[in-house]
Amino acid sequence: MTTTNETRARKHVFPPPMERHYRVQHGRVQTRSLEAHIVDHCNLTCAECCSLSPLLPEWYAQPDALANDLRMAAKVLQPGVFKLVGGEPLLHPAIVDIVGCVRATGIAPMVSVTTNGLKLGDMADAFWQAVDALTISLYPKPRLAPDLVAHIESQAARFDVRLNWKVQDTFTVMNRAQPSTDRAEAQRIYHDCWIRERCHMVRDGMFYTCTRPAHFHTLFKGTQDFRGDGLALREDAGMLDAMLAYLQRETPLEACLHCHGGSAPQAPHRVLKRIEVETLKAFYP
Ligand code: SF4
Ligand code: SF4
Repeated sequence: MTTTNETRARKHVFPPPMERHYRVQHGRVQTRSLEAHIVDHCNLTCAECCSLSPLLPEWYAQPDALANDLRMAAKVLQPGVFKLVGGEPLLHPAIVDIVGCVRATGIAPMVSVTTNGLKLGDMADAFWQAVDALTISLYPKPRLAPDLVAHIESQAARFDVRLNWKVQDTFTVMNRAQPSTDRAEAQRIYHDCWIRERCHMVRDGMFYTCTRPAHFHTLFKGTQDFRGDGLALREDAGMLDAMLAYLQRETPLEACLHCHGGSAPQAPHRVLKRIEVETLKAFYP
């Protein structure tokens, strides 16, 4: 019987359960995962991309700056997995060096890459040797070619890389045409949002409970300050308490006024046309 991408894929529970209890072990908060978006741009333009990638300029993370952030984060955080995300992270020419930098910080026992898979056929053996796991998003269009899927499975088996095929035929409609001014609604959305526990992110010296503020900050080109939604990484003795307080805060983020949250309705996945991307970009500075 032919095995399809869909039958390979694990079933994902959606929306996932909330996990608001943060245990501290050996001075580090135990979390599910932490991620860094190592590029902002992508080779696709999915509508409702959570990372706002179709609207953001080309950008590449600097390995040394990321390593510096992670060294500070690792003093108070212990995620189960560290994820390299984007945009499309395989577009970063130094991705193998970045995996090495991440590992050297000791932030997490596992380093994973989240990708749309389209460039996996171009990756050198050094890449497969470096990573522990891959999450590969499977969209209805463009589908990964069967020979690319076979290559991915063969390389994963050869280099002992764990594969997580993730069917994504729907996306959560999180983006708002206009920001809200209703702070009570933002409070409710934030309270019910599972993303704030599952998508912790570091970027430019900051830790964020979700990925949206950092990307809004780039999208608004600093005309609105979303960095205030994050926690500045630092090395003093108060950092552990500051991290716990930040993770458990009940005050919504400024970004929540621009977002429908993780429990918003779903829409079928589709790729935006160039004209649609340009029209959306025109709303922003
Ligand atoms: S592949 Fe992922 S990062 Fe790229 S546009 Fe689609 S959802 Fe965004
Ligand atoms: S901005 Fe607020 S509502 Fe949107 S994903 Fe982040 S925490 Fe959830």
